[in-house]
Amino acid sequence: SRAAVQSERAHEDQHEESLRPRSLGDYAGQKDLKAVLGIAVAAAKSRGESLDHLLFYGPPGLGKTSISLILAREMNVQIHLTTAPALERPRDIAGLLVKLQRGDILFIDEIHRLPRITEEILYPAMEDYRLDITIGKGQNARITSVPLPRFTLIGATTRVGALSSPLRDRFGLIQRLRFYDVEELTGIVIRNAALLNIPIDEPGAAEIARRARGTPRIANRLLKRVRDYAQVEGDGRITEPVACAALELFEVDPRGLDWTDRRLLATLIEHYNGGPVGVESLAAATGEDTQTIEEVYEPYLMQIGYLLRTARGRMASPAAYRHLGYAPPQRFEQ
Ligand code: ADP
Repeated sequence: SRAAVQSERAHEDQHEESLRPRSLGDYAGQKDLKAVLGIAVAAAKSRGESLDHLLFYGPPGLGKTSISLILAREMNVQIHLTTAPALERPRDIAGLLVKLQRGDILFIDEIHRLPRITEEILYPAMEDYRLDITIGKGQNARITSVPLPRFTLIGATTRVGALSSPLRDRFGLIQRLRFYDVEELTGIVIRNAALLNIPIDEPGAAEIARRARGTPRIANRLLKRVRDYAQVEGDGRITEPVACAALELFEVDPRGLDWTDRRLLATLIEHYNGGPVGVESLAAATGEDTQTIEEVYEPYLMQIGYLLRTARGRMASPAAYRHLGYAPPQRFEQ
């Protein structure tokens, strides 16, 4: 039921809070991102100014919210978290803006989904620290401007291409978050296992890391599923064989692909001869919507070289054929 789903979600969120890295030292990987932000923070601090507006983009679960919370700590300012779908009416965003104090961070998740009217309120707010509000209606309407303190807007998005250019142009820094390598994810799993009091050895952590699709949030989720398995089927310790057995049971394959990933690739190979085929056809065949395929599934499949995006559509690579147990077609061997 919906209520059960929501409470499950709240439960996961609670866990997510407890596992969030608290400082740059705890924040694994993303070397380039940390270097750029380190400079921005030091420069802003030395001038006694607020940070430039920042846009973070990349697939879900890679650490966009976490790095924003860390930035607030580094700058010693308040951060106000919201998400675009909660900002439907002009007064929603106006209400947040007037609460800001000098230097505060306003974090807007899924910023590509902002309604146009909200976006237009943000332009003068970001550029001139000014809130323009319309008072009255029709012929009597007039605009009043309220000055705002200097603040930092952080936008997070899985689809940077879906942002309007006037909005995109108002960010001083636009940074992409990358998938994590197995070593980085192993470190995250070991740290989080310690926080949750789960006994685990290095090979056990590495096995979870290999199957986490380069994504810390997925590593955390797998860690919890494997812990359950280890407690029920074993003595609670997570070792490599325990992690393998658990993840096989949960249908996470050795490359971290789940049922939907495999279904996407199998559809491409079995029904479309490996492609090229449009994303809409893949959506229809798998029952996922095109956005989810593009934002959640495809980035990792492309990262590991199983899926190619070409001008004529999606194609399965020879590695994808082999992963699913098929011989790659002749055309790849020429
Ligand atoms: P996003 O905002 O990109 O969807 P989050 O910042 O919410 O992702 O990250 C999800 C979870 O993944 C966090 O709660 C944290 O436990 C973990 N995580 C993300 N990035 C890192 C990182 N660089 N180091 C350690 N843990 C991380």
